[in-house]
Amino acid sequence: MIKEIEIVCQPGQHEDEAILTKLAASALNINPLKITGIQVLKRSIDARGRRVVYRMQVKLFVEEAYHPESYTVNYPDVKNAKPVIIIGAGPAGMFAALQCIEQGNKPIIIERGKAVKDRRRDLANINKQGLVNPESNYCFGEGGAGTYSDGKLYTRSTKRGDVNGVLKTFVAHGASADILVDARPHIGTNKLPQIIEAIRETILNAGGEIHFDSKVTSLLVDFGQVKGVQLASGEKLHANAVILATGHSARDVFEMLHRQNILIEAKPFALGVRIEHPQEIIDRAQYHCDLRDPDLPPSYYNLVEQVDNRGVFSFCMCPGGIIAPCATEANEIVVNGWSPSKRNNPYANSGTVVQINLEDVAGDTKDPFKMLHFQTQIEQLAFKAGGGSLVAPAQRMVDFVNGKLSVDLPKNSYLPGTKSVELKEVLPHWINERLRKALPAFGRKMKGYYTNEAILVGVESRTSSPIKIPRDKETLQHPQVKGLFPCGEGAGYAGGIISAAIDGINCAVGCQNLDS
Ligand SMILES: Cc1cc2nc3c(=O)[nH]c(=O)nc-3n(C[C@H](O)[C@H](O)[C@H](O)COP(=O)(O)OP(=O)(O)OC[C@H]3O[C@@H](n4cnc5c(N)ncnc54)[C@H](O)[C@@H]3O)c2cc1C
Repeated sequence: MIKEIEIVCQPGQHEDEAILTKLAASALNINPLKITGIQVLKRSIDARGRRVVYRMQVKLFVEEAYHPESYTVNYPDVKNAKPVIIIGAGPAGMFAALQCIEQGNKPIIIERGKAVKDRRRDLANINKQGLVNPESNYCFGEGGAGTYSDGKLYTRSTKRGDVNGVLKTFVAHGASADILVDARPHIGTNKLPQIIEAIRETILNAGGEIHFDSKVTSLLVDFGQVKGVQLASGEKLHANAVILATGHSARDVFEMLHRQNILIEAKPFALGVRIEHPQEIIDRAQYHCDLRDPDLPPSYYNLVEQVDNRGVFSFCMCPGGIIAPCATEANEIVVNGWSPSKRNNPYANSGTVVQINLEDVAGDTKDPFKMLHFQTQIEQLAFKAGGGSLVAPAQRMVDFVNGKLSVDLPKNSYLPGTKSVELKEVLPHWINERLRKALPAFGRKMKGYYTNEAILVGVESRTSSPIKIPRDKETLQHPQVKGLFPCGEGAGYAGGIISAAIDGINCAVGCQNLDS
């Protein structure tokens, strides 16, 4: 007999199979020896009561042969198959490539940045010397923005595709199977690079191609049909299907499309700051304790408030995390966050941003670059305010709300350094004021949140793409260019690793439909 039940256990017991079996046996009122296997299906922390517990949905094999699931995929050889060019090796591009292989197309990935290992040196230069390589940074290179991201894998876009399938592919390439059961799956920045390398090996072993240090500078289009791409080196590559998955930071790609008279549109996004607290403040508030139980993970929060008709919300919260310098050009500051798999840094950070609509920003609403120029302008202002070398402008939380320059700044995780600045010098008044109103309100929702021990670091500006590349809802192709598939976050169809991966898969399927 196979049975699914929910069991509740104490932190620490949640990974102990013997205890879980006992608890399950007692719930079913049977002898534990009758249980031949137990498989955790879902696992979540319930911190609503005074005592924090784990809720586990488990599948029990009772007097029944137990076959644990394994996650390997066999990919066919596509070396001589019909090619699909994929621009960008982020989650969208890589999952598009895997899908191409599964359906019998040969993926040719073109990536402007470097392979994971070489990329690491450029990240060290960013963090230690404040030097940004515009081709190799936190956003550009193998695995895209996903490689050195936080690796949180929860998404709201479950309707767009097979989320579990994407998670299983990660597991097949080395991620812990925990991501299949955790309510808030997380891989961690230290583990992602090996997984990305394993995906690369799968693509190459199946006969796909990956070209690093290769920037696409124009699309080859003939009478409304894409024919391939031209690289910065002058080399041309040919295919009748091109998936454009270049991410939200490839500003030159948007310029390229505009130059080639391929329609793009301005798109709303959100902008604000990254906020960092000592992790213990968040743990105390969420777990109602003085000191976190060592068997519980560092806690997270999710805050949202409507202020003057706009959403202000926390975004990409990283417990035990680090604030990362994610600029793609030398003269701008962009912050984001990541955490290692153990989430064992002493700080908790999140993007805290205000939704911006097209009409909020001055300029012609028909100008496709209106939002992008606004974003760039604020990032450059932040760079100037910090004084160079990626030093970021920052302010203590209560000082920010009270409009007071911070006398000093708390210790924080942002490696290039922070400088005390009144953030209203960087943020437009209408963003600044909404943030000022939202923070005390967040404090009323979460005890301890509103404190001068927290630091605001500017600016969190790459929350999503400021430009949309239109596509047909059914075929996923650009309305003006047959065979061109705008894909992933940069085109405006994804907002994270999982949704980008799913969009990559969907676009690859679109390429197959092109053949038939
Ligand atoms: C620090 C950080 C933390 C994050 N944490 C999370 C998280 O925890 N969970 C989550 O879901 N998301 C997270 N994200 C966001 C996530 O990484 C992105 O949503 C996702 O990577 C988007 O995937 P994509 O494939 O659409 O684009 P990208 O990952 O941006 O990939 C685009 C690729 O295209 C390449 N490219 C650009 N232009 C060209 C060109 N002209 N020629 C060739 N190649 C080109 C780029 O080099 C890049 O590799 C984080 C991002 C950052 C930076």
